[in-house]
Amino acid sequence: MLRVEGLVKQYGETLALKGVTFAVEQGAIYGFVGPNGAGKTTTLKVIATLLQPDAGRVFIGDVDVLRRPGAARARLGYMPDFFGVYDNLKVDEYMQFYADCYGLPTAGRERLIGSLLELVNLADKRDAYVDSLSRGMKQRLCLARCLVHDPDLLVLDEPASGLDPRARVEMREILQELRRRGKTILISSHILAELAEMCTHIGIIHAGQIVLSGPVEQVQREAGARVIEVRLAGGHGAGAGAGAGTGADGAPADPNPVAGVDPAVLEAVRAAPGVRSVTPAGGGLRVAVEGDDQAAAALLAHLVRAGLPVVHFAEVKSNLEEVFLATTGGEVR
Ligand code: ATP
Repeated sequence: MLRVEGLVKQYGETLALKGVTFAVEQGAIYGFVGPNGAGKTTTLKVIATLLQPDAGRVFIGDVDVLRRPGAARARLGYMPDFFGVYDNLKVDEYMQFYADCYGLPTAGRERLIGSLLELVNLADKRDAYVDSLSRGMKQRLCLARCLVHDPDLLVLDEPASGLDPRARVEMREILQELRRRGKTILISSHILAELAEMCTHIGIIHAGQIVLSGPVEQVQREAGARVIEVRLAGGHGAGAGAGAGTGADGAPADPNPVAGVDPAVLEAVRAAPGVRSVTPAGGGLRVAVEGDDQAAAALLAHLVRAGLPVVHFAEVKSNLEEVFLATTGGEVR
């Protein structure tokens, strides 16, 4: 549905894009992730026909975006990171305005606007002034107006930024519904947690270059960071490590202690092959381990051999934080 090939963009001294290449399959929700200044907005603006690159090509389906921007605009809906919402308009007038911009026939418009407002849970706000809406509602209204011309591809620049958790969940549900309706979605964020649960694919951009791109699980594997959640009977705090070799009492001081984790448990887990890091999470531990299924199996065998009472051992599929930190050198911190 979308192909981006070798995009280069220079702003004065700043080389913002250094040959950005990636593709988004029909029906995917592609999370475009990178730290601030990585080049996300610049890339999305080129795709949305709002910025001319210095080199490279973009195709939406078979439409060459740089050569046929009008045809490209008919196929894409773009939601910028900062958007004006014409405060003196009512929600209905706002939608009518965009329907006019896209030259939609007036017949059937009422129904179309009604169904779009329904989709974004704003049907009861049709007569409200736009400036009376909350931030989350404005984001959803902006999403609705991106859909008036029934585009195949949605390009959304940080749609979840500044939203509270509930509003984020609402946004996520709407995007899932749009996917069910056959839309392809490209969505950017610098916060992985916003994207982790909703995307089918991830592209990580860093300093103007794509460092990883593909289905979520493949990206995780390629980065070599699988995250396994481990829970022990009785928790992982002091006393849980009976049988792990060294008890908490009298054990030599751990040079890298982890708050709330029994040093003996920590030592036993860290001694397993391929373990990169151990962090407490909820009632368990998150263990980042390098490698494939064999590595995960070896970790479990090691924990059991070490006498740890493992009651839960499962890969955390959506945790991309480690992947992101591994590929961007931890700069987001
Ligand atoms: P953020 O997450 O902060 O929005 P981003 O990944 O979207 O960041 P861009 O906005 O594409 O990144 O910026 C990429 C680089 O280009 C940055 O170094 C930025 O300072 C620079 N840049 C962006 N727009 C301009 C501009 N109009 N003029 C000069 N430099 C710019």
